[in-house]
Amino acid sequence: MRSRHGRALALTAALLGVLSLAGCGGGSPSASPPGATPTAPSITPASPPATSAAPASPPVTPSGSPSAAPPSPTDRPDPRWRFYTDDKAWHTSPWFEGAHRVMIGYGCNASPWYAHDSRCPGREGFHHGIDVAMPCGTPLLSAVDGVVLDPSSPGAPGAAYGVHPFRIRSGDHDILIGHTVHVLVSPGERVHPGQRIALAGDSGAPDGCHLHFEVRRAGGGLSTAVDPAPFLKLS
Ligand SMILES: [Zn+2]
Repeated sequence: MRSRHGRALALTAALLGVLSLAGCGGGSPSASPPGATPTAPSITPASPPATSAAPASPPVTPSGSPSAAPPSPTDRPDPRWRFYTDDKAWHTSPWFEGAHRVMIGYGCNASPWYAHDSRCPGREGFHHGIDVAMPCGTPLLSAVDGVVLDPSSPGAPGAAYGVHPFRIRSGDHDILIGHTVHVLVSPGERVHPGQRIALAGDSGAPDGCHLHFEVRRAGGGLSTAVDPAPFLKLS
């Protein structure tokens, strides 16, 4: 009995190992063109000096009252999160529920996930979106009127964005949402501000659950990405 139990435990442990590795598959969007096979990241990336560990918890509102609620449901720190930004504020946005921290901003950064880009100093790579760390399953909302694009239409994002990235066309731009665990809209569907569109996740993201928010010219590829801050409207 004991050995059977032991084998069951070992099996469970092995399964858990496989599952957690599966969750780490792929890589964050890289500077390589869409469709390119992402480089498999190491499970324990080297920590460049700019790294700061995941925060313990959101700050308590400064009202002084011991019962004051934090600005969001507590972000239980994901041990995989690494923050490559000086921005330590908890932000809200019409694109997600709760308040969360930026993990990697748009542009050059010292994170290990992106190939070196000639626009960036040293060995830094270029991030084409904004990553906001948030617990797995955090509801994502649309902040625009738009139409969900067919996944295969021009400018289709590659596997580095996870299993089911999707784009919303709004005016002259496509808003790309990456790493979701669940998408609540379908190609061709019209979306409206305030509508739940997906749940944040870690699909294709070795650095934990987060929203990858990217904005491209309509129908454009990675090279047409622009600073998404005016669209993300963090406050
Ligand atoms: Zn990203």
